[in-house]
Amino acid sequence: MCATCGCGDNGAVITLAGDDHHDDHSHRDHHHDHDHDHDHDHDHDHDHDHDHDHDHDHDHDHQHLPATETISLEQKVLAKNDELAEANRKWLAQRNILAFNVTSSPGAGKTTLLERTIRELATKRPVSVIEGDQETLLDAERIRATGCRVVQVNTGAGCHLDAEMTHRALETLQPEPNSLVFIENVGNLVCPALFDLGEQTKVVVISVTEGTDKPLKYPHMFAAAGLIIINKTDLLPYVNFDLDVCASYARSINPNVQIIAASATTGDGIGAWYDWIDARASELPR
Ligand code: MG
Repeated sequence: MCATCGCGDNGAVITLAGDDHHDDHSHRDHHHDHDHDHDHDHDHDHDHDHDHDHDHDHDHDHQHLPATETISLEQKVLAKNDELAEANRKWLAQRNILAFNVTSSPGAGKTTLLERTIRELATKRPVSVIEGDQETLLDAERIRATGCRVVQVNTGAGCHLDAEMTHRALETLQPEPNSLVFIENVGNLVCPALFDLGEQTKVVVISVTEGTDKPLKYPHMFAAAGLIIINKTDLLPYVNFDLDVCASYARSINPNVQIIAASATTGDGIGAWYDWIDARASELPR
């Protein structure tokens, strides 16, 4: 369950792209074992409808909770997530791995940005990717076509990655020491803002085909960003988007945030993104 929007979390499915021996069911069962808070339905059948029925009951129950209890449940979910995220952060630090949590609305160009980044940066340092989407392996296949190791997390009804999914994805991915891991979150500017994955920095991508006022409408995500990439600048002549105004809105929420305007399609401005990554890498202990 998402603490804020109440969306279903019926067990993320994690697939190493190119792995033909994947078993969905075992992953779902594995997740359920950890799900102690939800274990109030003791007379269920162990059939394939189980997760769905269970979630339905669960959501229904919550509609009757007084507001104070709903808030304390949210705090509990987020506190547990923060604890797991810290463990991920330690796991990554032990291996000297730089991890970025890349978020945006659907269609802002996260996967296209990563495709170009991998092609142009992977010669410098090893790169691997965790792909988050509700369904399909489509983006993982696009990333794999670049020659990069990639794990797809399918969240089902869930609208964000969380630290537990990230932990399992990292265990499957086994990124090499001193490498770079991009975690492409589910396209959503709301809930991913609340869920720390253990990343070093959140990178928020918006595109010029979206509204200039997006930072004002989704302030939590822009407040959490360490970097904002304004993507698809090649389309600026065709859309009504004001770069300067968008940047000033973002800075009204997050005064010190770095902002890079670029086109992942043409490569225009993309060098600033690579410089930013290099600067983060140079901050790692050697
Ligand atoms: Mg994508």
